[in-house]
Amino acid sequence: MSDKIFLNDILFDAEEAKVSVFDRGYLFSDGIYELIPYFNGKPFLFDEHYKRLERSLKMIDIENPFSRDEWADKINNLLKTCIYKNFSLYIQISRGVPSDLEDGIYREHAASKKYIPSVLMFYSENKGFPKKKPNEEKAIIMEDKRWLQCDVKSISLLYNAYAKTLAHRENAYETILIRDGNVTEGCSSNVFIVKENVIKTCPKSNLILPGISRTYIIDNLIKSTEYELIEKEFSLEELESADEIFVTNSTQCIVSINKLNDNLIGTGTCGKITEEIFSQFIKSIN
Ligand code: PLP
Repeated sequence: MSDKIFLNDILFDAEEAKVSVFDRGYLFSDGIYELIPYFNGKPFLFDEHYKRLERSLKMIDIENPFSRDEWADKINNLLKTCIYKNFSLYIQISRGVPSDLEDGIYREHAASKKYIPSVLMFYSENKGFPKKKPNEEKAIIMEDKRWLQCDVKSISLLYNAYAKTLAHRENAYETILIRDGNVTEGCSSNVFIVKENVIKTCPKSNLILPGISRTYIIDNLIKSTEYELIEKEFSLEELESADEIFVTNSTQCIVSINKLNDNLIGTGTCGKITEEIFSQFIKSIN
């Protein structure tokens, strides 16, 4: 069976789904998204992802097109066609297409008309799972030049995509972003450092996406260990001199950063504390 895509209440074969060129998602990146991981066929932290989706919609003033029960029905219907056990469900909602184009105004910055929101969902296999150890990767560093509302899970990812492409060209997994001398987050992850058994991560604010994995790791995994966790800004120098660095997101869970630009972090392999937290994570998804 080929993968299916949900677009505005119709299931298409993956290559067949098409959107209007007048969709404000296409013209202005006027929309939000969410990505929900499924492990062993079960959603992980669905409620938390759903709450963030509602919050993102509210922040850019798009009405949720469906009730919670309607979402559940539509997701179940789509996932009946999914043959994978470990996968990510991508959900995107854009403000959509003007309900009336008769006036000939096809594109205007202000969302001054009535719009029919576009809802897109698809799933992609998460091939790396189940894992025994965290991936060990390189990261590069760049200035954080994004807008100041990084807590909205916006589909406007121009800088994130650009910075991550530069990382890819350097055989790195992630670009860690620095604003005013402090680490904010990665282009698609939250960042943690370990120094002498103390774990630090940037606090929640408009400067970072409130990662669902980040919160889960802090509240459910780190708090039950002997390690101290500090949610506080930390500098580029602290990042560079950390014993361990790890980044978190819903597709990879926890990735150990062993190399920053051309410098090794710690011993250059995954640190003990990162490995401990990773193995607790894996236990909790099984
Ligand atoms: N920060 C950014 C900018 C992201 O794009 C992501 C995930 O895509 C994260 C952090 C991690 O968020 P989550 O743990 O909810 O996947």
